Amino acid sequence: MSSQVIRALLLALLSSLIALPVGSFVAHWAGWSVFCAGLALQMIFHFRNFARLDRWSHRPVVDASLEGEGAWDGIFGRLYRHEKDLRAGIADRDNQIERLFAALQALTDGVVALDLNQQIVYCNSTAEEQLGLALTTDRGQPVVNLVRQPEFVAYLEGGDFERPLTLRSDRGTDRVLSIHVVPYAGDRRLLQIKDVTQTVRLDRMRRDFVANVSHELRTPLTVLAGFLETLQEIDLDRADQHRYLDLMAEQSKRMESIVQDLLTLSSIESAPPPSVDIVDMSSLVDKLRRDAEALSGGRHNIVAEADAQCDVRGSEPELVSAFGNLVANAVRYTPAGGTVRITWKAMAQGAEFAVEDTGIGIEAKHIPRLTERFYRVDRGRSRDAGGTGLGLAIVKHSLNRHQAQLEIRSTLGVGSRFAAKFPAGRVARVQ
Ligand code: ATP
Ligand code: MG
Repeated sequence: MSSQVIRALLLALLSSLIALPVGSFVAHWAGWSVFCAGLALQMIFHFRNFARLDRWSHRPVVDASLEGEGAWDGIFGRLYRHEKDLRAGIADRDNQIERLFAALQALTDGVVALDLNQQIVYCNSTAEEQLGLALTTDRGQPVVNLVRQPEFVAYLEGGDFERPLTLRSDRGTDRVLSIHVVPYAGDRRLLQIKDVTQTVRLDRMRRDFVANVSHELRTPLTVLAGFLETLQEIDLDRADQHRYLDLMAEQSKRMESIVQDLLTLSSIESAPPPSVDIVDMSSLVDKLRRDAEALSGGRHNIVAEADAQCDVRGSEPELVSAFGNLVANAVRYTPAGGTVRITWKAMAQGAEFAVEDTGIGIEAKHIPRLTERFYRVDRGRSRDAGGTGLGLAIVKHSLNRHQAQLEIRSTLGVGSRFAAKFPAGRVARVQ
């Protein structure tokens, strides 16, 4: 029997103990009155507390409003603690859910949670940006109504999620997404979206590069093999033998220069940042002039002007190779009688090294691609001139390492101007 019932019985007994002598010595009705008054007092007491509980149960706030009297205080205390624990539990759960959402938001991958009907339950901001969604308006919408690309719809409906789907953006960007469907909570689906644009681009560059290198090396190798076969099979006189050997030497030299250029490129790529030593530009320009004259063999008019007031800070061998490439191009792609002008001068913001020629010039459409590896405007012509198509790639790389920009201006049939613009931080003023 609960303590409440025992207490109620004891109070009833107490009322009877008072009512009995009153009933015996005063009058029966007086005894009954005392007994009823005792019971009524008990009822009023319980009713007051019951009403308090009733009020609280409509709006169960955890505060002092739930205070009982007598035995009710124990009941109210337990209720109060239960409500408090419940609220703490809910707050804790809310906190955990909030942290989970914050973690999903922080992911660099996009995440979209779908329900059993492929409707969006949740998506993080990365996914909003990747797929053009907006959670506030798109929640509850079927995802295929919002991402309508046929390959995406077919992938989702196909049900084979072994491999991720590679999706090219149809929103005017060259973005490539990799979408992986992961089942969760039964048949519900989670889309995990990675941006693989850079990986796809690097992969294509790598394939192009291998194809280019193979192609570039195969050509001289085929020529060499052909000559070797001829020498092995045909009895040639000494003069022809010499001629063939000269041609073979030329091809092997060509292969050597391709390999050398590739090695230069890869060593620049992995080299630490260039030094900040001062490179004497007056003597460097003078050396470039002499090299140009040697390469030209007197067929061109070579002009050189260097501003003696400033020098550049950087790696001398790298700059000599980069500037030398520009000068060699100018001589190579300028017909006899033309002029090649080499200049170094201080500018408002930094300084500029430029090589200008009156040569064959370059059509505008080729200019943005000139610094790509193996890119040549006229393959045959460049090859005849001994070019590998790696020169400007090396130049651009070396200049970038010096925070310098390569600016190319050219007019077909008129001439070209290749300028390396150095920022003020790379320029040393001569006192
Ligand atoms: P190399 O690797 O031996 O320098 P290359 O000269 O063919 O070979 P780049 O120096 O990278 O290669 O030049 C790329 C292309 O740009 C050349 O093939 C040529 O078509 C064009 N080009 C470069 N400089 C000039 C120039 N001064 N005038 C006209 N065309 C040029
Ligand atoms: Mg070149």
